[in-house]
Amino acid sequence: MTRLKVRPVLALACLLATFGSAAAAGDGAHDTGGMFGFSPASAAAQQSLEQRFDAQLDPADLRDWLKQMSSQPNQVGSPHDKANADFMLAKFREWGWDAHIETFSVLYPSPKKEALELLGPHPFTATLSEPAVAGDATSNLQGVLPPYNVFGGDGDVTAELVYANYGMPDDYKDLARRGIDVRGKIVITRYGGGWRGLKPKLAQEHGAVGCLIYSDPKEDGYAQGDVYPQGGWRPAQGVQRGSVADMQQYPGDPLTPGVGSTPDAKRLAIKDAKTILKIPVLPISYADATPLLQALTGPVAPPSWRGSLPLTYHVGPSVAKVHLTVLSDWTQKPIYDVIAVLKGSTAPDQWIVRGNHHDGWVFGAWDPLAGNVALLAEAKAIGALVKQGWRPNRTLVYASWDAEEPGLMGSTEWAETHAKELQDKAVLYINSDTNGRGFLDAGGSHSAQHLINQVADGVTDPEMHVSVRERMRAHLMVDGNDKDAKPEVKDMAKLAAEGGDVPIQALGSGSDYSAFLEHLGIASIDLGFSGEDDNGGIYHSLYDSYDHYIRFGDPSFEYGVTLAKVAGHIALRTADANMLPLRFGDFSDTLDRYVVELHKLVDDTRKDTQQQHQLLDQHAFALSMDPTRPVAPPERDSDVPAIDLAPLDKAAKQLKQSAQAYAATYNTRAATGFHMPATQQLQLNELMGRMEQALSNPDGLPERPWFKHMIYAPGMLTGYGVKTVPGVREAIEARRWAEVNQYSAVTAKVLDRYRTQLDQLTALLKK
Ligand SMILES: [Zn+2]
Repeated sequence: MTRLKVRPVLALACLLATFGSAAAAGDGAHDTGGMFGFSPASAAAQQSLEQRFDAQLDPADLRDWLKQMSSQPNQVGSPHDKANADFMLAKFREWGWDAHIETFSVLYPSPKKEALELLGPHPFTATLSEPAVAGDATSNLQGVLPPYNVFGGDGDVTAELVYANYGMPDDYKDLARRGIDVRGKIVITRYGGGWRGLKPKLAQEHGAVGCLIYSDPKEDGYAQGDVYPQGGWRPAQGVQRGSVADMQQYPGDPLTPGVGSTPDAKRLAIKDAKTILKIPVLPISYADATPLLQALTGPVAPPSWRGSLPLTYHVGPSVAKVHLTVLSDWTQKPIYDVIAVLKGSTAPDQWIVRGNHHDGWVFGAWDPLAGNVALLAEAKAIGALVKQGWRPNRTLVYASWDAEEPGLMGSTEWAETHAKELQDKAVLYINSDTNGRGFLDAGGSHSAQHLINQVADGVTDPEMHVSVRERMRAHLMVDGNDKDAKPEVKDMAKLAAEGGDVPIQALGSGSDYSAFLEHLGIASIDLGFSGEDDNGGIYHSLYDSYDHYIRFGDPSFEYGVTLAKVAGHIALRTADANMLPLRFGDFSDTLDRYVVELHKLVDDTRKDTQQQHQLLDQHAFALSMDPTRPVAPPERDSDVPAIDLAPLDKAAKQLKQSAQAYAATYNTRAATGFHMPATQQLQLNELMGRMEQALSNPDGLPERPWFKHMIYAPGMLTGYGVKTVPGVREAIEARRWAEVNQYSAVTAKVLDRYRTQLDQLTALLKK
């Protein structure tokens, strides 16, 4: 599982050719300090270490591992998922790592019975299966789970059908204005427009008795490109599986929130688990969806609701009824995390954790194995360095997680089980997931932004022959130039164009960093290449296969090697640096941007509300002239009261001063090579490694105490998408005005704690 992105196809080659050199020339002015966190002598040694690391990376290894690991179905509980864990365990040991498999027992419902039929004058029974296709060797294998959405409820329901577009909050408002009620109905929604799990959740909240989610070819099929096997896009029978657990409450095993799902863990009853839905849910293909959509009557769907199928989209309800059955086997299944440790020589109690998951929905060549084989390549190369006599200063922990797809389970349960030790020791978590050709997507804690930039500056893009960083910069600038670009994308493009560090994205959710960053407060990074590949169309389907990957993913595995270089260099630098390579001024700068955004959000909301009121007053008159109009005007929003963001403003301003003082002290120390007693250095790094934790609030976010980070969280209504300063931002968006003021103060408090800790660092560094 990872963010599913459908990118516009851009012809970048010529742009890069002119842009790359100009930006590279401008760079020198920004990086005056050399390798961040290193004295000049240790920087030279590190450079040579990284060269020796790179020399060990062989694309043929990645190809072999990917082929073998994706040769059979890899869903949780399958024999091959376990075989892959055993395979990796043997490899890590062969390469000299101290490795073991850690097992948890999680609730993992697997399908027992699924059926979908249209009753009435034109009966139709959905196939609910994905056929083998020519040229895809694994597509006819046995042992594949049928397409389903894990953590929907059991149910056998017969009801009329209503089309709810993407099934997002605005779609329900629109339905209501048309006088269409989904209570007692089955809702059909299309993929896109928001996170998968919100569709059935909102359908349930609006009183629907069942929910279907189909892939429309507009987003996910022939309207995007040729379909598999001719091209890479989703064929008519392809289905997107996926979890619909309400992970915005908490990810991991639904029965053990906040604690590891060890054998003796206290478990909730299934009926009490807040993240499990009550209504049956089923994902279907556009072939299966077509007769159902054709059965809809009622008003014609508004233009923005129409997909690319050759039919007139109606909102419904249908006259003919639909019969939906979903029954699952609600038993516990074992999951297998592979954990490999290489103990540090001088600071063994400071850990760098690097992870990728290994379970897939079916074969999972793209998601997750393309990222997982890069992680294996790093581990092999590091093993070779150890055999040459090198040892990291800090401890490296390499992990291949199980059960990410049903809900980030392997990583979450491990992080919850070892919470105390991780909060004491882990200084950075580095994640990857799927990987393909194109641009580096880098997200994470902003204190790691400079580290990512320096590393990306030293790795060459295999196609464009500029640094990965310059290609990332060009990508952001092109995205920001798009006329429909969101304001925050435009802001990032502007920063990228200035020629210094390329800004990284904030992290929401959708992959295994969530527990580390958002629950434990450990600085985290997420990395992956994409943009030139075609994986949108086969995401979470039978066709996410080796044969698909070597045609439409990364045929030469050069981007797999490039990912291994970027992630590996980050791990090695963090392991060996004199001072942990985290730059807190970058966090402070980013926070300033967020605070400006929040002020603008309040102002815009106030303006929009006033405009809405004016419009409604006039609209009421216009409507009275047009009694045939089928759409009722929107509900009148309440006025925006006075909002107090002053605590945030003050905290951000004070943090800026402290960050400047720290940077000045740091630069003085760096110039003289960080000479200090070993105990002082250890103490400094321990404090630095815990900086991010200061941004956690023990009580967590409103209504979801598992999420403790006060700066980054997945949005309640965006699923994977991030909400920065979430306590405040989501309260403004939901118009919960008292909560805005409350979380402005709560967030200011954690920022003050962060600043106090930074001042301690400065004092210690000055000694
Ligand atoms: Zn994944």
